[in-house]
Amino acid sequence: MKNNNQFSMQDPRKQYSTGNTAHDPSQPDPGLDAKLSPAADHGEDSYQGSGRLQGRKALITGGDSGIGRAVAIAFAREGADVVINYLPSEQQDGETTLKHMKKAGVNAYAVPGDIADEAFCQELVAQTISKLGSIDILVNNAGKQQFVAELADLSTEQFQRTFTTNVFAMFWLCKAAEKHMPAGASIINTSSIQSYQPSAGLLDYAATKGAITNFTKGLAKMLIAKGIRVNAVAPGPIWTPLQQSGGQPPEKLDNFGKHVPMGRPGQPAELAPAYVFLASQESSYMTAEVIGVTGGEHLP
Ligand code: NAD
Ligand code: MG
Repeated sequence: MKNNNQFSMQDPRKQYSTGNTAHDPSQPDPGLDAKLSPAADHGEDSYQGSGRLQGRKALITGGDSGIGRAVAIAFAREGADVVINYLPSEQQDGETTLKHMKKAGVNAYAVPGDIADEAFCQELVAQTISKLGSIDILVNNAGKQQFVAELADLSTEQFQRTFTTNVFAMFWLCKAAEKHMPAGASIINTSSIQSYQPSAGLLDYAATKGAITNFTKGLAKMLIAKGIRVNAVAPGPIWTPLQQSGGQPPEKLDNFGKHVPMGRPGQPAELAPAYVFLASQESSYMTAEVIGVTGGEHLP
């Protein structure tokens, strides 16, 4: 077996396939993992936990699919109790993630809802506290990405919706969760290579990722006064439903991720260890930091 766990030594260029040729570009936003073709790897058959988050309580947004699902599976296998959030239309994906987490023997819950609403963000935190009793780890991972080639076609409505989902929701969730977070807690935001190297056609999205990187560093300096660390992960091109549901133009999907030095897109499973590291006490001297997982495109 190629990946009997995340520690198996092998050539990283060949660890996953380089082609995405079976793709179906027709999914509406948000895309479903259940319809993602070819399928993504979230570590279902490979991630091996070792108690690195034993007893921790975590809230993960966008935990139904993609990177969020890989993080949810890894956190559960490391011993954390987890609440995942996603949009109601993603219930099928949410249930799949819940099933994997419960198999790990931890408490796992779903609280679906739209984080573009401040009142819902407060409700999500309140429900997490009532289910888990604390929030030791907050992973702001939900995100919206819709490709628009021309400035003239980028609507105010989309610009606002992208900022509300990617930036305002992160602010609302951090603000609501912080009161419940003990010293030692960790906030992990999901930035992007787009924060540093914006692509034409992702103007609104890339700008939100720049804001997330900056917010992460500023909030880290604020919250260290309470012993809370704040860091970010910046993924490169990762094979998830986001890309197949308007995140990329359909004609770019075949070659998605092939331009990076590694020569292939990343899989959600390859992101999870960075989130586990930032969540756990192993990264005790790290705050205001951004870890790039980019296939070699590197952060500046
Ligand atoms: P994904 O579609 O699997 O995950 C995004 C999730 O965001 C969805 O599952 C959905 O549950 C959630 N979401 C979107 N709008 C929401 C809303 N209003 N309310 C609640 N939830 C909402 O795709 P992914 O690629 O795993 O994305 C996860 C994160 O990774 C995003 O922040 C994305 O910007 C970031 N990212 C992805 C890539 C990539 O190449 N896939 C690269 C860099 C960064
Ligand atoms: Mg999803």
